[in-house]
Amino acid sequence: MSGEERILYDYEALLERAYKKVPPKSGSADYTIPVPEIIKQGNQTIIRNFREISMRLKRDPQLVARFLQKELATAASYNPNSGQLVLNVRVSRKVIMKFLDLFMKNYVRCPTCGSIDTRLEKRGKAWVLVCEACGAEQPVKPI
Ligand SMILES: [Zn+2]
Repeated sequence: MSGEERILYDYEALLERAYKKVPPKSGSADYTIPVPEIIKQGNQTIIRNFREISMRLKRDPQLVARFLQKELATAASYNPNSGQLVLNVRVSRKVIMKFLDLFMKNYVRCPTCGSIDTRLEKRGKAWVLVCEACGAEQPVKPI
């Protein structure tokens, strides 16, 4: 078995590969998450381009806000008029990018084929990530 084949049989490595290398079906422009524009004010952190980031993630800003709120264990308020998110904690751009990556990995990218042509479906209490490209369904943790 060649090294390449061995990677294919290692499920974790396969997921990792799909996450890092496989371009999305809908075009590479959708792949990158915009760099968060951060303003720190007192004990708050404002993400100025939060709406743009959420649009790129193809998810409701309120949902992405709830995810960050939970992960950072803080309060977050999204302003639909300005498109900004205010977090009640001082946090670096690097940390925010880490969690946005995590969101993309868990709630946007198809673990089977790597496409980001996906949608979240709520079935009762269960959440499922449904891939439009390959049809795979992946149960995810509700936010
Ligand atoms: Zn897929």
